[in-house]
Amino acid sequence: MRVLAVGGGAREHAIVEALARSGAHVYACLKNRNPGISRTAKGILLADESDVPKVVDFAKTSGVELAVVGPEAPLEVGLADGLNSAGIPTASPTKAAARIETSKSFMRDLMSKHRVRGAIKFAIVETMAELDGALDRLGSDIVVKPTGLTGGKGVKVFGEHMKSRQDIVAYCEEILEKKIGGSARIVLEERLVGEEFTIQAFCDGRAVVPMPAVQDHKRAYEGDQGPNTGGMGSYSQKDGLLPFLRRAEYEDAVGIMEDVVAALGEEGAEYRGTMYGQFMLTKDGPKVIEFNARFGDPEAMNVLSLLRSDISEICGKMASGGISRKDAEFAQKASVCKYVVPEGYVTKSLAGEEIMVDEKAIAREGAILYYANVNEKDGRIFTTTSRSVGVVGLADSIEEAERIAEKGIGHVSGRIHVRHDIAKKHMLDAKVTRMKAIRGDRS
Ligand code: AMP
Repeated sequence: MRVLAVGGGAREHAIVEALARSGAHVYACLKNRNPGISRTAKGILLADESDVPKVVDFAKTSGVELAVVGPEAPLEVGLADGLNSAGIPTASPTKAAARIETSKSFMRDLMSKHRVRGAIKFAIVETMAELDGALDRLGSDIVVKPTGLTGGKGVKVFGEHMKSRQDIVAYCEEILEKKIGGSARIVLEERLVGEEFTIQAFCDGRAVVPMPAVQDHKRAYEGDQGPNTGGMGSYSQKDGLLPFLRRAEYEDAVGIMEDVVAALGEEGAEYRGTMYGQFMLTKDGPKVIEFNARFGDPEAMNVLSLLRSDISEICGKMASGGISRKDAEFAQKASVCKYVVPEGYVTKSLAGEEIMVDEKAIAREGAILYYANVNEKDGRIFTTTSRSVGVVGLADSIEEAERIAEKGIGHVSGRIHVRHDIAKKHMLDAKVTRMKAIRGDRS
């Protein structure tokens, strides 16, 4: 089967590898020359992934029978709609369904209208005049978000990025003035306290088939310090849970995703594709932080490295219906993914620097390599301002998987930065202890 894969990061390299494993002939559209994707794909279009007519044309001339879109920007401009209209079943949501990610105000309104569990206190503000009343109602212990896409960089949290009501007012003024995220609309949310986790699920408009839970690390530096990034690394546990996450809490979060998919269906925006739910596990259970209308990056590398079922079949069922839990089997192993990024990432990334990646040595260590936003030129690999390569270890325990990932990373060199602390035992223990304290659990 010929399948179109859109996007050029490590998430998409993982998607392309999974598709190739399932026997698909992959045709890829991406804007950078990702060596992993270009090597595996049968055909490549180097272009703006959000140029709908161009991508649809490439899909048609390549004779693809199925499509999957990695990043959010093409979803926001309706690439899935364009592909569907051209008669190509697409395992990614339409523009209307992708609003679950592309409009944070739509997401909060939808959850509130349909009384979905896991909802939190929020307000939507479009003028400075509305802000005062909203702050009186919610208080200052809040999180401020532009409603549109900001690549994870527009969220400000009270106590971290904002210290007073004045700081909140100043940031809201800036969002409205500069239309940060593409529109003059702000979502204010109560600040949640707990541990974050991610569940990704295959959806066919009705059914929600969950994958193992994953925890990402957004901060650039060790000890969860520094600026927010696209994600520096992530891990999952053998049983699909996390050291601090119980089975019932996982199923609660899946239930919330089922309710959201049902609510979207009732609104006439059937959700077909992978859905990513980000949750805060609070003392009152899982609460929704956000949804993404796609795989997470790095979280895709965890789950797709573990997937044993045929991804082409899963994508076909997401696009056309009829998916169930038996369609998605995962290896019973822990996974640890660590990103290698350019020195200076995220604010002053060293772009255009050569990095050396010893693929054979990484494979000998038993680690899996995914190329991210790098460019290949004459057999050499150069950084961009984004993340460079993801390295994954799989094993019976998180500790062992972490060691494998680290050994793999030892064979990548150049002016790079890695968060070595991710998934180390002291980090996991600290999370378990913190969650116990939040639960008020002394056992
Ligand atoms: P988002 O782009 O919505 O995922 O937000 C980025 C980060 O901000 C999240 O990973 C959380 O760490 C934090 N965050 C977002 N919303 C909240 C909230 N309501 N309470 C506490 N932290 C939040």
